[in-house]
Amino acid sequence: MFIATGERGTMTTCTECGADVTLHDDVEAGEIVDCTTCGAELEVLDVSPPVLEKAPELEEDWGE
Ligand SMILES: [Zn+2]
Repeated sequence: MFIATGERGTMTTCTECGADVTLHDDVEAGEIVDCTTCGAELEVLDVSPPVLEKAPELEEDWGE
């Protein structure tokens, strides 16, 4: 198991409820993350600094 000392991910804020959301250290732009507080799906627009936007609700054409 790899543990990065001194780093515990990147903290940012849910655009829906304002709660803290922790992004993985290796998060990439375009990823969808869930807010653990309100359950919203958030798309990572940028990682440095982290920018989140509510993910589209339509479950189609997400480039998978
Ligand atoms: Zn939230």
